[in-house]
Amino acid sequence: MKIKNPATDEIIVALKPDSKAEIGQKLAMLKIGQKDWAKETIDDRMSCLVRFGALIQENLQELAFLLTSETGKPIQQALNEIKGAHNRIEHLNAHARHWLSKEIMVDSGGTHEQITYEPLGVIANISAWNFPYNVGYNVFLYALAAGNAVAYKPSEFASLTGQQFEFYLHRAGVPKNVFQCIIGSGDVGQLLLEEDFDGYFFTGSYGTGLHIAKSVAHKLVPVQLELGGKDPLYVMEDVLDVKQAAINAAEGAFYNNGQSCCAVERIYVAERIYDDFVAAFTTEVKSYPIGNPLNAETFIGPLTRPEQLQVLEYQVADALAKGATLLTGGNKIKGKGNYFEPTVLMNCHHGMKVMMEESFGPIIGIQKVDNDQAAIDLMRDTAYGLTAAVFSQDKERAMLVLEQMDTGTVYWNCCDRVSPNVPWSGRKNSGQGVTLSSQGIRAFVQPKAYHLRP
Ligand code: NDP
Repeated sequence: MKIKNPATDEIIVALKPDSKAEIGQKLAMLKIGQKDWAKETIDDRMSCLVRFGALIQENLQELAFLLTSETGKPIQQALNEIKGAHNRIEHLNAHARHWLSKEIMVDSGGTHEQITYEPLGVIANISAWNFPYNVGYNVFLYALAAGNAVAYKPSEFASLTGQQFEFYLHRAGVPKNVFQCIIGSGDVGQLLLEEDFDGYFFTGSYGTGLHIAKSVAHKLVPVQLELGGKDPLYVMEDVLDVKQAAINAAEGAFYNNGQSCCAVERIYVAERIYDDFVAAFTTEVKSYPIGNPLNAETFIGPLTRPEQLQVLEYQVADALAKGATLLTGGNKIKGKGNYFEPTVLMNCHHGMKVMMEESFGPIIGIQKVDNDQAAIDLMRDTAYGLTAAVFSQDKERAMLVLEQMDTGTVYWNCCDRVSPNVPWSGRKNSGQGVTLSSQGIRAFVQPKAYHLRP
């Protein structure tokens, strides 16, 4: 399996994918290791994870370089991701003991009722390439803390980072038979579905997620899906500073080249500020430095996957054919690497694919709205349900909109952010199940009810 640098098209290294037999051996090994790992105290397990976190931070520069080389993520954003993901470890370390300890519900009248939380066993974590630290940590660290063993399959586009997770977890004291990285592309992921895992935790597209859910349904084990989005942002006419709102909205749409599950994917703007907002937004996007992702000042690098270039070209052509106005960008950049011009389309409507289908790239559609109800109707008009955002000075008015969103997360005067303090979940085609927070840890355990009569 050739690992390509998406900025230069050069092959970085070739890796040997795991065969079916090797996956079977790794699973057998994990099944043995998990039993001992579950018997360790939560303190012992957490101290390994804290050591892992420290090792990752100590090797930050080298790991960021690797992430940028294989995904094309601009180096400053790679550093931000690796540093930022550490908050999962701090949060787990502060709370996991409490979350996983037994709960005594009744202890009177000769009856004792309590709940304990047992690990699932060996879980498969099939992961995405766009934020491998964030989405990886959300699953495998929480699973390990709860006493599970993990077979981690990174996306083929983040394989080198996945190998580093394995290397540093083992160095931090997580036994080899408790965490294993499985190398390979989608067909290797497919092999995992045929094996006897105790749970499947997937981050990726709706199509693959649905395929995984259907393929493993007969096993009746937990299946969790963190899928895509078509996340709306509504900018009300009362925003304090239209220019600043446009700058913040553009960052939400174009950070990581738009390849974020919770990127702003469509924008609705109140009529009164529409022209000013669109002008400020376009000026901001035109100012983004595009180029070599290893340069510290680069904000827009190459797309990670070459296939996405065609999706974006198709969405632009479709929007223009249906009456959109192109304000900047619109084309693949000629030469080496998977570069696409940051693209802004105005006068969009829901007949256009750019407003309805996940773009997952540096492109945004903007639509004018007359009032809050029109915005609400448009924001809700989607098959997805990951996040929704409102920019306004008026909290009460914003909350009235946000309460009506059928999404797992809502934002007021912010967007495109994830925090370990609150649950992360998608509705409808954005997935099922929860990661992060006290609720996220529950995904990796099964409760046992004790009825005891002393
Ligand atoms: P894919 O669905 O293509 O891939 C995700 C993972 O599944 C990869 O490891 C992939 O391997 C693997 N895979 C592919 N085919 C199969 C199969 N038949 N059986 C088992 N595993 C398989 O997703 P993308 O790479 O396109 O990731 C982007 C998507 O992820 C976007 O839709 C994005 O919104 C979503 N996402 C959601 C997040 C959330 O928290 N809700 C967070 C991050 C991303 P390989 O890549 O090697 O082919």
